[in-house]
Amino acid sequence: FYCWNHINMTDKLFAEVAGAPEDPILGVGQQYKADPRAEKVNLSVGVYQTEEGKIPVLRAVREAETRLYNAAAPHGYGQISGNPALGAFVQELLFGKDSEVVRSRRACTVQSLGGTGAIKLAADLLHFVVGKTKAATSVPTWGNHNAIFKQAGFDVSHYQYYNKADGTIAFEQLLADLRAKEAGTVVILHACCHNPTGLDFTADQWKEVLQIVIDRGLVPLLDIAYQGFDRGLEEDAFSIRLFAESGISFLVSSSFSKSFSLYGERVGGLTVVCQNADEAARVLSQVKQMARANYSNPPNYGASLVATVAGDPVLRAQWEEELGEMRARIRSMRVALKNAMDAEGSPRDFSFVTAQDGMFSFTGFTPEQVERLKKEYGIYAVANGRICIAGLNNHNVQYVAKAFTAVQK
Ligand code: PMP
Repeated sequence: FYCWNHINMTDKLFAEVAGAPEDPILGVGQQYKADPRAEKVNLSVGVYQTEEGKIPVLRAVREAETRLYNAAAPHGYGQISGNPALGAFVQELLFGKDSEVVRSRRACTVQSLGGTGAIKLAADLLHFVVGKTKAATSVPTWGNHNAIFKQAGFDVSHYQYYNKADGTIAFEQLLADLRAKEAGTVVILHACCHNPTGLDFTADQWKEVLQIVIDRGLVPLLDIAYQGFDRGLEEDAFSIRLFAESGISFLVSSSFSKSFSLYGERVGGLTVVCQNADEAARVLSQVKQMARANYSNPPNYGASLVATVAGDPVLRAQWEEELGEMRARIRSMRVALKNAMDAEGSPRDFSFVTAQDGMFSFTGFTPEQVERLKKEYGIYAVANGRICIAGLNNHNVQYVAKAFTAVQK
């Protein structure tokens, strides 16, 4: 009798659980896969594709894979903080060689499960160790910013970023919104290649944002998932170096998903910039606790690939060249789309596409237009109108321009 009673109770354990909605971006990718149309185009997920529509295996990464294979090292556990060579590389990319931050050792870096994992570690550190409860994200933003901070126990508020009327950064509103935040609010900023708008601050705008952060006592988390995709590795780190020079404490989430085309290997890093080396060592010990209780230690393979490339001057130069090729192809596709829209007689000027930065363009398409693109043309975009420019190539750009023009009429 006792046994039956027990089973009845456990039977009901999940009875009331509601189904969660599909992820707005990854869910679209699933729909794309299931679409049988040959002319279909996936402009939804933020993944760089080649002119042939393939995710590249970078030549530098391929060589690193060969070296790792030949070394046939055993698959032992790594450190909780991950591959130390990866950590050093993250800091070099963020702050530059011989930077004050690196020399003083006032920053610590922990390898993470992609940029996502870095943001989660940051949120856990700030909430559970430092005691922060409020966070603010841009409107719009990459949806996972909100989800991660909510899941880590934060009240998430927002600051306006985009001006729908003219397709620019709503800078005055943004400043007012940031000024109104309570001291200690964690502010998530896109260091470059803002996702989804493709609109970045100018150098002067960054200085104004930094001043408000300092004046209001806000806690910045700079998310850099696309370093090297806007103007170059050094140039794209401008905001991070500006914040570092100011002497404030802040956090940075890095991702190698795009820059090394290692999406599924989950390679990233969380860097916490502190006031001195002693503070950084204590913070590191706490981040390690967060990691330990979450996934114990990060996977070795992807980090070893990145560290192998970073540690060999020839492979590193090759990687930088390949990153440059990806950046240049995206730029050329922006121009190709704008020209094709002109040729199709688009009712709206698409010059904004060539002015935006990074992998994405915020097209201004309504959810209805996005739905028509999918239904009538097999072109998949995100419901908020975001398209991934890297999904375009010389074979599909005319077709896309034709469809983009048709759904506007
Ligand atoms: N931040 C932003 C703004 C992103 O767009 C992404 C990827 N879509 C990430 C972080 C996380 O990247 P990943 O976890 O795949 O490295």
